[in-house]
This record gives sequence, structure tokens and C-alpha cells, in this order.
Amino acid sequence: FKQTFNMTVTGTSKLAGKSALVTGGGSGIGRAICRAFALEGATVLITDIDLEKAEATSREIHDEFSVKAECIRMDVTSEADWNNAISVITSLSQKLDILVNNAGISRTGPIREFSLEEWNTVIQVNLTSVFLGIKAVSDLMKDHGGSIINMASASGIKAIPNASAYGSGKAAVRMLTKIAALEMAEINPNIRVNSVSPGGVKTPLWKDNPFWDPLVKKAGSEEAGFQMLAQDTPQKRFADPEEIAEMVVFLASDESRFMTGSDLVTDGGYSI
Ligand code: NAD
Repeated sequence: FKQTFNMTVTGTSKLAGKSALVTGGGSGIGRAICRAFALEGATVLITDIDLEKAEATSREIHDEFSVKAECIRMDVTSEADWNNAISVITSLSQKLDILVNNAGISRTGPIREFSLEEWNTVIQVNLTSVFLGIKAVSDLMKDHGGSIINMASASGIKAIPNASAYGSGKAAVRMLTKIAALEMAEINPNIRVNSVSPGGVKTPLWKDNPFWDPLVKKAGSEEAGFQMLAQDTPQKRFADPEEIAEMVVFLASDESRFMTGSDLVTDGGYSI
């Protein structure tokens, strides 16, 4: 799966001096977020369940921007892995300013054919992980504040068939974001919690779905496949991952300092 990079963020030091942890940083949107954060001056800890992919992102950042970005293997569904990530952050920079709960999976199928195991896996990776992440970093952000950004989806706003676990989980991520925003503001008014709801984005996430290979075959190429899927998006296209990363940079930066509990919908009009 070819992953290109069309970053329009030019590196204006919006995140200078900040320390960030990004989950699922080895691919797609997470990879674009890590790159954008590094370009904007943040120190990034890249985490992914697939260490090789996290290392590849780290190498790119080093080779292209001459910046070091550490990476570790981390399963976002494991509380022990969260505790380990927090120790790594503490040893690297003593503080954490930004957490991006980005890692996610897509599994689809009609409810009647969807197994309980598949349901539980999707909910654990896409929703329980966000709960664990917020819980894990709250102590680190208690004294100096911070920005937590959760990756929701337009699928959590607009119902589509065959996405019961994915859509319900993403809708719950939006609500969890608002609940956490209220709770974190009680701990420190400068801990902000927001979500981003992308519409279709051109990433490898799509290829895990059974319809992907036949669709690409019919369309003739991956790009044409994305274009076919984008027909019910008013802007008639899918986003590049970098377009979502730019939204995340905004939420991570002080430019959004009076935003908490918000959901930034970036979906080309899909959920209108
Ligand atoms: P992707 O498949 O390109 O990347 C997801 C990354 O998460 C991979 O590197 C994978 O190894 C990692 N991951 C999977 N399970 C993990 C686990 N248990 N622990 C740690 N890491 C794990 O997908 P993407 O499209 O970049 O998706 C990123 C986020 O954006 C997801 O939460 C997804 O639901 C959301 N999203 C994607 C789209 C889209 O169209 N691609 C749209 C809306 C929302």
C-alpha cells in the first residue's frame, strides 16, 4: 500500500517545547500526525503495536527533518503497556503536553454475521484504549495542563450499515471526550480534551475490509477505489492523512486554548 506525504504544514514551531505521545504512529493518520508534530517542534514518542512501522516513521522523521523521535511497541488495549509508555515519557522528558489516542482498526459486517469476538476487539482497540489513555496521562498533566486528542470518526455521527462496532465505538469516543473534558477541567482547567471526526481518509485502514480488494479490482487502482467510495461525500474526495494531521496540530497547539469537549468534524461534508 503506497503511502505518500503531502504535508502543507510548513513548520512554524506551533508545538515548540512540547512533548507528545501518539498511538498508532506507524501508519496512515498517526504517521502523518507524528511527522507534523516533529515538523512543528514537538518531541514525539511514536507508539504502535507494530514496532517496525513505528520505527519506519521514526526513521523518516530523522532523515527528513533531522529530528530524533523515539518509538516503542505498545498495544493500546493493555494497561501494562500504557504504564510502560508513561515511564518512557517520564524518563525522556519528565512531562507530557499532548496525547493523541489515534490507534484504531476497522472491521465490518452485518450484525447477524458479526461475532462477539470481533465486536469486543473493535470496541477494545477503538474505545477502551481511549479510556485507558486518558486515565494513564491524567497524573502527568495534572500540574501543568495538556491537550488530549481522540480520533473519532464521521462514522460515529452518521449511521452506515455493517459498521455496528466501529460506528458505535466512534460515537462513544465523541461522548467519552466530552465527559473527560469535564472531569479533566476539574483537575486542571488547562487540561483540554477534544476529538477529531474525519470522513474517508486514504490510509491502509480500508484494506482490512472484505469489500476492499473487489472494489480496487473493479475501480482499477487504489486511488480510483477511494474515488468510488467518495461519491457520497459532498466534496467528492477522500482526505490525505496530512489534512487530518493539520487539525490535530491545531488542537494540540495553544491556538485552540479555549477549546475543550469539542469534536472537530473534518469530513468533506459527509455527515451533514
Ligand atoms: P491505519 O490502519 O493506517 O493505522 C492504524 C495504526 O494503528 C496502525 O499502524 C496499526 O498498527 C495501529 N494499531 C492497530 N491496533 C493497535 C493496537 N491494539 N495498539 C496499538 N496500535 C494499534 O489506519 P488510519 O486510517 O490511519 O486510522 C487511524 C485512526 O483514524 C483510527 O482510529 C481510525 O478509526 C480513524 N479514522 C480513520 C478514517 C479513514 O478513513 N482512514 C476515517 C475516520 C477515522
